[in-house]
Amino acid sequence: MTSPSQIRLRFAPSPNGYLHLGHAYSALVNDALVRALGGVLLIRMEDIDLERCKPHFETAIMQDLEWLGVRFDSDILRQSDRFDAYGETIAALWAMDLVYPAFWSRAQIKAFVNDKNDWPRDPDGSPFYPGPERTWSRTEKESEIRSGKPFSWRLDIDAAIRRTGLKEADIWGDVVLARKDTPASYHLSVVVDDAFQNITHIVRGQDLAPAASLHSLLQTLLELPTPRLAHHRLILDDEGRKLSKSDGSTALYHLRDEGAGVEDIKRMIGFSDEEAERLATQFT
Ligand code: GLU
Repeated sequence: MTSPSQIRLRFAPSPNGYLHLGHAYSALVNDALVRALGGVLLIRMEDIDLERCKPHFETAIMQDLEWLGVRFDSDILRQSDRFDAYGETIAALWAMDLVYPAFWSRAQIKAFVNDKNDWPRDPDGSPFYPGPERTWSRTEKESEIRSGKPFSWRLDIDAAIRRTGLKEADIWGDVVLARKDTPASYHLSVVVDDAFQNITHIVRGQDLAPAASLHSLLQTLLELPTPRLAHHRLILDDEGRKLSKSDGSTALYHLRDEGAGVEDIKRMIGFSDEEAERLATQFT
């Protein structure tokens, strides 16, 4: 049972590779905050991408977290088990006329924006959608959907902002909320599942800070609570770049095989309980 006042955080890795030092930092920060705030820590596998996410990565992630000493107060929630919930959410947004079917392929969009250097892009780097479908009548949209051609569901950002008054989200343009091959985008599934897991506080990397305006827009449209948010620093490589799953040298299993202990990992990422606790004062 969830009591209304219970503080609930989550760690939400994608099992499409091994955890690296950046994930270790995020998991340890969440763990320290849960202890500082007296809450519970939930685990969610963000495995909507069925091509890239694999059960053996999930197993390895859980082993790494166990080794780090990060414990969870729930079983694993897998987003791959939640596709019906995402479908229902899209249906609700469609009923409100806040999403529309977008038929242009990625290649078509790329070709269109190719020679337009100042074409606007969202914080994830995707170009704003140039296709015409948002202006079609409801009847046209419905008949194109019935034709069976593949499409993505995109948020009509102007309509969403008109409805909520949340103008800061306009940096996102008409973002994709679901694709034919993946029934939800990160932004949709995270909002639906944070509500489903009754998450009250989220701490995640600074790179996701721009997502806050979009998530709060979606939460408002869907009448879901907005969890309190804090962002932690990112662990960078020697060249100052974000760590990547494809560079195995910072993978936890690799460092462990080379003889590193948990205290070595904490030293490498400059982690301390005090630093994590300072973040507790930064929740919005
Ligand atoms: N699955 C995301 C990641 O691995 C987590 C994002 C979040 O915490 O909202 O980066």
